[in-house]
Amino acid sequence: MALKLFNTLSRSIQDFVPLDPAGKKVGMYCCGPTVYDFAHIGNWRTFVFGDLVRRTLEFKGYTVTHVMNITDVEDKIIKHVRETKTSLREFTGKYEAAFLEDLKTLNCLLPHHTPHATGHIADIISLIEKLVQRGIAYKAADGSVYFSIEKYRGCGCTYGQLLKLNFDEMKAGERVKSDEYAKESVADFALWKARVPEDGDVFWPSPWGEGRPGWHIECSAMSTKILGPSFDLHLGGEDLIFPHHEDEIAQSEGATGKPFVKYWLHGAFLLVEGKKMSKSLGNFFTLRDLLAKGFTGREIRYALLTAHYRETFNFTLEGLQGARASLARIDECVSKLREIEKAGNWTSAHPDAEILKKFATTLDDDLNVSAAWAVVFDWVREINRRIATNSLTAAEAATALATWANFDIVLGLELRHSDNLPEEILALGFARQEARKRKDFKRADAIRDELKAKGWVIEDTPKGPKLKKL
Ligand code: AMP
Ligand code: ZN
Repeated sequence: MALKLFNTLSRSIQDFVPLDPAGKKVGMYCCGPTVYDFAHIGNWRTFVFGDLVRRTLEFKGYTVTHVMNITDVEDKIIKHVRETKTSLREFTGKYEAAFLEDLKTLNCLLPHHTPHATGHIADIISLIEKLVQRGIAYKAADGSVYFSIEKYRGCGCTYGQLLKLNFDEMKAGERVKSDEYAKESVADFALWKARVPEDGDVFWPSPWGEGRPGWHIECSAMSTKILGPSFDLHLGGEDLIFPHHEDEIAQSEGATGKPFVKYWLHGAFLLVEGKKMSKSLGNFFTLRDLLAKGFTGREIRYALLTAHYRETFNFTLEGLQGARASLARIDECVSKLREIEKAGNWTSAHPDAEILKKFATTLDDDLNVSAAWAVVFDWVREINRRIATNSLTAAEAATALATWANFDIVLGLELRHSDNLPEEILALGFARQEARKRKDFKRADAIRDELKAKGWVIEDTPKGPKLKKL
């Protein structure tokens, strides 16, 4: 079955068909953190969702290029830099380091590219120049450059692709300089913001004078620079639909004349007692708050993966206790399997194809994690029953462990934590076995080379393939 995903652009569930004619490569951009504070676990719900999408695509055999930007200059950051009397780099560097550390704690795969807005000022300027040349952007009396919605629509382009907008109330030429605004106040938005005294040292030269980029243009510039004018997937939390993602579409399509993104995926909010967890409401836990309470990254990751990404998730500490208990059940089952298997060569065993197919089918259904967990826990129950009746052989335990390892390519719960095999390497090892089974020796050899480039060698032994560090 093909992977199906809910595309905000079409407001429907669609088959996922990558732009790559060979159907192999996938470009995926996730809006990253604004590094002005520690990310709260509402933010982490969205980033773990991005990780789930990437892992699912890799599990299904796609080669993903995953880009996640670091927003290191925008309105809120500048305000904090001013208040804390630090330099931009010093201020954002601290929160970026914390973000990357938290990403590891939650066992999210590191994106292949993590571009910084401040490292792409030239690309941002050249994108704005294109829009100015095409008559879609203009410099206003305040020295800032704005995107003209009227001109854009006049070219036959649609503003309001992700949601319906009412233009009747809109006055032509009305402008909004702040990065965040409601859909009721739709107006020409800032691409380049002219330097003002409050910006302090945060400014760059440009053809329109000193200033700094708006938030929305940053993502358009970085995504198209790395993934090209058109790419497959763009992700973020649901609050980014408007204006951020709508403006990204307008800027990118306005400049290139090509469709920007094929599938837009948005994760629902994490709530606390029915309210959105947010810094402005002050009702948030950072990952660090939860680690200080004694929870582990695995437990928090598990909890964040229990609800479907399009359903709001009500976060409670009791819920997290529940996650701890469920994870302990899985861990206990895995360690019993290890005791039965003993030999430690389960990485060469074949996973249970039938159960893996069931698991994959649940994910194909718009990442239906609740159904995926049901498959996992039915499986645990059955394994536990077999263990209790002493009827599970060492070979069957090896199959079960290999099956777990395959589940874990998607779940990322490090179920094999006593083996020193990085997940990525193990996943490649399994992918090679699968390719050989399909008699796709070209792919199998390509994977062997990829493993070698990563410092691992695969040896085919009479007992099956073994992975060794070079
Ligand atoms: P920010 O660092 O504020 O740019 O946000 C990073 C990501 O977290 C964005 O994709 C937001 O949509 C997402 N986000 C913010 N608040 C929440 C929340 N309460 N639940 C889920 N995602 C959120
Ligand atoms: Zn973005």
